[in-house]
Amino acid sequence: MPETTRFAPSPSGQLHLGHAYAALFAARAAQGGRFLLRLEDIDRSRCRAEFETALLEDLAWLGLRWEAPPLRQSERLTAYRDALERLRALGLVYPCFCTRRAIAEEIARADSAPHGPDGPLYPGLCRDISERERRERLAAGESHAWRLDVEAARRRCGPLTWLDLEAGEQVAQPELLGDVVLARKDVPTSYHLAVVVDDAAQEITLVTRGVDLFHATHMHRLLQALLELPVPRWHHHRLITDADGERLAKRHNALSLRALRAACHSPAEVRAMVGMD
Ligand code: GLU
Repeated sequence: MPETTRFAPSPSGQLHLGHAYAALFAARAAQGGRFLLRLEDIDRSRCRAEFETALLEDLAWLGLRWEAPPLRQSERLTAYRDALERLRALGLVYPCFCTRRAIAEEIARADSAPHGPDGPLYPGLCRDISERERRERLAAGESHAWRLDVEAARRRCGPLTWLDLEAGEQVAQPELLGDVVLARKDVPTSYHLAVVVDDAAQEITLVTRGVDLFHATHMHRLLQALLELPVPRWHHHRLITDADGERLAKRHNALSLRALRAACHSPAEVRAMVGMD
């Protein structure tokens, strides 16, 4: 069945073999449908125009073709603000004035600080402050992020499920991620909010991405229910690792597509290296 899929890199470094695999996987999963590109470039301190140019060139060199133009998250801040506003109107988000340090100290202090599969969760310091204190601190211009009250959100939606093509049907457990940030102090959105809003805007029917983001999907499913967005299916795939079994990262310069090209490897060879020939 033809699907609409997407590859969503951040232009904050060179693409490596892991990205090549993810991009080829998404394009193949479209099965003759639509393959789209999204540039996750909201973190302006890390993203650079030259990385964007390079990644578009590398993907084309690999043999990928996508519908132009790519969706650029930095141009979609109004859509993210609107989504956050809807959640605020439902009474499901709260301002969080905590510094990273205050959060770390609280986690170290409290014996029973909640933990999820990806590490400690936000310990809820700002969830229970009074409405009056909240108003005063906001009026005083104190810097703040916005967090989702995950328990209140779950109560509103009831039980939810989602489908991973490899792992099967999943019961959504967004509480594994806790009260995630939906808008940061410096950017009016966050990964979780932007992904959900953009997958709907791009009419993605099958979300493919690395298995490292499997748990994030619990949260995405909840946000889709709250925002009344269409629900895609997911296919979380394996991660490409180096010879020591370590997941590829920016430090693996030798396995960047640039370096492989410079070393005269052909696109077919690179596809074969990740088992996508
Ligand atoms: N920019 C994210 C990544 O590179 C994409 C996440 C997603 O596909 O949802 O991991």
